[in-house]
Amino acid sequence: MQKLYFFTGAGLSAASGIPTFRGTNGTWEDHDIDQVCNLRTWRNNFDLVHEFYNARRSTMNLYYPNLAHQAIAAWQAAFPMQTTIMTQNIDNLLEQAGCTNVIHLHGHVADMQCTHCGNMFEIGYRSWQQHHERCPRCYSSSVKPGVVFFEETAPNYVHYVRMLQHLDCGDMVVVIGTSGVVMDISTDLAGYSCKKILNNLESSEYINEAAFDTVLTMSAESAVPYIDTIIKEHFA
Ligand code: NAD
Ligand code: ZN
Repeated sequence: MQKLYFFTGAGLSAASGIPTFRGTNGTWEDHDIDQVCNLRTWRNNFDLVHEFYNARRSTMNLYYPNLAHQAIAAWQAAFPMQTTIMTQNIDNLLEQAGCTNVIHLHGHVADMQCTHCGNMFEIGYRSWQQHHERCPRCYSSSVKPGVVFFEETAPNYVHYVRMLQHLDCGDMVVVIGTSGVVMDISTDLAGYSCKKILNNLESSEYINEAAFDTVLTMSAESAVPYIDTIIKEHFA
């Protein structure tokens, strides 16, 4: 059976109002990545880290899926047995649009993780009171946001590796809204002869566009009709 993979990044949620990490209005322009998202440094920046992610959570209820999230949900519904959706995003807009079994490669912003016992638990979109709250399982105060930090292992990368291991020439990979800085998707896909589609608002120096069969340099919402045609022709 031909398989359909979606690999998405911050650009997918940009039209919903969530800033991307890099580029114009990128979240990181005001924050040092090594201070708020790094396993080696987070304890030294304990308050800053929690304030940063509390702020992220406090606005999450304001965002709604855009046309591209909805299109991915529709494509999954059309090919339910064949479709795998992977995202680097820590929001839940794909799920809000109706997608199921979304693989969050970098975790979800509503989760917290105890570094003492490993407990991962959901707190929703509220603030974590870092000076008062503790892990509900072991009562340690060493609790970090449940998103994957730099220098931290990412358990869900096993799904990404599995995709690469099982890619056949009849499969299709649709890459949307990622700069390729954190995950080197174009290098990882380069050797495969499956159908590869890239959609980014702008070209990225970390993405080798020659690795793709189709490159759509436009917003994810604008790319929907083009991707729709390609998917329908491929899976007809
Ligand atoms: P990135 O910020 O590095 O790059 C964003 C990419 O999206 C760029 O290539 C840009 O050209 C493209 N883009 C911007 N607006 C777009 C649009 N409207 N349509 C299509 N493409 C658009 O994003 P990344 O590669 O996902 O970075 C990796 C890290 O960013 C991940 O670890 C992820 O957790 C994190 N992140 C997530 C969110 C979120 O959950 N929504 C937001 C910001 C950052
Ligand atoms: Zn614990």
